[in-house]
Amino acid sequence: MLIKQRNELFDLKTPKSFKIVYIWGKGLGLLANKNFKKGDTVLPLRGKLVDVSIATPEAIQVSENKFIDTKYLVAEDFVNHSCSPNTTADTTKRKFTAIKDIYKNQEITFNYNTTEFDIKRFGGDFDCLCESKNCLKSIKGFKYLTVAQKKKLKPFLTPFLYSKLPK
Ligand SMILES: [Zn+2]
Repeated sequence: MLIKQRNELFDLKTPKSFKIVYIWGKGLGLLANKNFKKGDTVLPLRGKLVDVSIATPEAIQVSENKFIDTKYLVAEDFVNHSCSPNTTADTTKRKFTAIKDIYKNQEITFNYNTTEFDIKRFGGDFDCLCESKNCLKSIKGFKYLTVAQKKKLKPFLTPFLYSKLPK
C-alpha cells in the first residue's frame, strides 16, 4: 500500500493480521483481520525516542519532551482514538495489549488521553466520533480531564501520565 503523506511516499507493508481502511470522518484506521483475546499483544510499539520538536503527529508521549516515533509510517500509527478502546498502549514494554476480546473487522483503538498530556498544545485536539456511551466528545489530552476522569484511566496510564495523577 502506498500512502502519500508529508509529500513523501511510504511503502507500507501491513502485517496480515490487520487491514488499513478509510473510515468516514476519521481518515485511515486499523482493522483486525483476525480475532484477538483479551490480554493478547496486538501490535508492537516501535520507534525511537525523539524530542518533541521533531515528533510526528503519530508519536506517543513518554515524558515531558520525549516521544516514541518512527521515521516511516507503521501499522500502529493508524490506531485511532476511542473513549472506550479495545487496546492499551504500553510505553514500557513497547506494545499494544488487548483489554477486551477483539473480533475480525473491528477497529483497533486506544485512548489517546492515556498517553498524551497536552494534544491541544500541538493543535492536534479533535472531536471524537467513537460513539461510545462515555465519549468525551473533545479530545485534548490528559491535562484537560477532570480529576474523576483522570482517576478512571489509572490502570491504563503510561508511567509519565501516572506521575501526573492528582495526589
Ligand atoms: Zn469518544
